[in-house]
Amino acid sequence: MDTIPVKNLPQDTGWIEVICGSMFSGKTEELIRRLRRAQIAKQRVAIFKPAIDTRYSTEHIVSHSGIVLPSVLVTCATDILEGCGNVDVVGVDEAQFFDTDLVDVCETLATRGRRVIVAGLDQDYLGKPFDPMPQLLAIAEYITKTLAICMVCGNPANRTQRVTRSGERVLVGAGDAYEARCRRCFTTDLASLPAQPSGPDFA
Ligand code: ZN
Repeated sequence: MDTIPVKNLPQDTGWIEVICGSMFSGKTEELIRRLRRAQIAKQRVAIFKPAIDTRYSTEHIVSHSGIVLPSVLVTCATDILEGCGNVDVVGVDEAQFFDTDLVDVCETLATRGRRVIVAGLDQDYLGKPFDPMPQLLAIAEYITKTLAICMVCGNPANRTQRVTRSGERVLVGAGDAYEARCRRCFTTDLASLPAQPSGPDFA
């Protein structure tokens, strides 16, 4: 399903698309799908992700199901401006790990005529808005919220449950430390959680 009807696509201007949701909701899959379609149409595509995320590969974005696209690792959002050259479409994965400069960077790129597609977690493990996603959602032309399935009850899930006691905001690459949870099954009571994760690895 296309999020944006083709007949309604903007002409002679750029725009911002945000894909957001919990872990295991298919954000990267959706980002890759859009970027692949642009490549098939012979559009020039550049893909960036933060250097903090070294899961699976340092030079690719890889969906949980194993689809791979080459990407550029950058340490700060402003590196994207310098690194994207003359491309038509700029993809950004794991946007929640960038600083708030990403908001201005996306705005600048869109104003310069680029299609900007940003994917990221919209809530942290406490269910709080994960900067800079709220700011990106505010300025985006198009928003897609992806839902996972609650690993406890099977309801639609938009939250990422940490299943260990760690109080760190970011536990990169620790896929087995998280579950997708619905509103009802999600808890911020870390004291109730085990010290070590258990169960299968969903990364
Ligand atoms: Zn549930």
